Amino acid sequence: MSDQIVTRFAPSPTGYLHIGGARTALFNWLYARGRGGKFLLRIEDTDRERSTPEATAAILQGLDWLGLDFDGDVVSQFEGAARHAEVAHQMLETGRAYKCFSTQEEIAAFREQPENKGKMFPSPWRDADPSSYPDAPYVIRLKAPREGETVIADAVQGDVTIRNDQLDDMICLRSDGTPTYMLAVVVDDHDMGVTHVIRGDDHLVNAARQIQVYDAMGWDVPTFAHIPLIHGPDGKKLSKRHGAVGLEQYQAMGYPASGMRNYLARLGWSHGDDEFFTDEQAKEWFDLSGIGKSPARLDFKKLENICGQHIAITEDAQLLSEIEGYLAAAEKPALDAAQKDALLRTLPFIKGSVKILPQLLEKSHFSLTHRPIEVEEKAAKALDDVSRGILSELTFALQRANWSREELEAAVGQVAEAHGLGLGKVAGPMRAALAGRAATPSVFDMMLVLGREETLARLDDQAA
Ligand code: GLU
Repeated sequence: MSDQIVTRFAPSPTGYLHIGGARTALFNWLYARGRGGKFLLRIEDTDRERSTPEATAAILQGLDWLGLDFDGDVVSQFEGAARHAEVAHQMLETGRAYKCFSTQEEIAAFREQPENKGKMFPSPWRDADPSSYPDAPYVIRLKAPREGETVIADAVQGDVTIRNDQLDDMICLRSDGTPTYMLAVVVDDHDMGVTHVIRGDDHLVNAARQIQVYDAMGWDVPTFAHIPLIHGPDGKKLSKRHGAVGLEQYQAMGYPASGMRNYLARLGWSHGDDEFFTDEQAKEWFDLSGIGKSPARLDFKKLENICGQHIAITEDAQLLSEIEGYLAAAEKPALDAAQKDALLRTLPFIKGSVKILPQLLEKSHFSLTHRPIEVEEKAAKALDDVSRGILSELTFALQRANWSREELEAAVGQVAEAHGLGLGKVAGPMRAALAGRAATPSVFDMMLVLGREETLARLDDQAA
């Protein structure tokens, strides 16, 4: 057997991709990718009532946005039903499972007895002689050990011991021949060669039952790592009450994928005091031993700070494509070719001073807008007769300036000085003329982005 690491993400396509699920996917991806392993995707679509193609599409889209590429084809759990049934029958043949003919009514009647409260249904068929089998529908139950304990050697939770008398003989194959989820998970993980199962700790108890199936089949048990769920900022289990819980909402709010990856990696896992890191570092550092045992709390401020740091170091072309993705996700109008060009020229000047993508667009307003510039009320206040006169002098002074930051600063400085004004007083009317707004990037950045001709035209439009 090769010792290649194989992880998987196994979401049920029953809703949007929860950010808890996205983090599970990320942990599996990091673990595999940092070790030259494989990261697989299995859609657990056995629940036909609740599984939808839209939810599968949302999962694929979410993983794609987050940049979590998987190896091979998407595996559909539902499509493996025949193989799951085959394994149930194999366990039947080896005596590790048995046919149970008990009817729903019999089981319900057992449960209704007060003395059976909290007890597991002891199937009378567990040790029955096959010659006594009726010609009736049956389920296949695992012949689970009655004595002893099942130990989950969990890489995060430590050894978790469950008494076998707490685990009933679970149904593996229903009377209609369809496999149960619990059987399907084990068969799929085995057949896909999964070596590490990293998933939410809501599946911890399932692991004990699943280990019993591995044992019954004589298969190697993978390493389990059950990670604590994500909590909201108030410390309570994350729910819609806390706002955004679907991954696509984060894209629509303008968080960049790289920042999201970094933040989600830190949510429940740590590497010393490192908060900000690249994908390469995360792949190198990520280990199961760094996963904490207590639930991590979602902290939007931290998320924003980390996103800002990522935007600052992202290549302009990549940023542009993230912005386009954000606009589509937020159902906002797309950029035209001229706007894309303008953005590419603007990004180097502003990407170091924002936290999320919409702020990039906000700060780029001056370069995305056209003459005649619409001047907002607040900015218009800076345009009195005196300042319009100053703009006119400025237009004249700038005509002769070389279009470098130094020369622009010198030219504006001289005009300001001639009027005994500080730079701030001159900047107000310039902001109004160049952007139509009171709050803008630095006037020199704007002039450099706009270029000589456009700058002069805009200043002249407002000059006395
Ligand atoms: N399909 C399960 C879920 O979405 C995950 C099962 C597993 O990872 O084993 O919660």
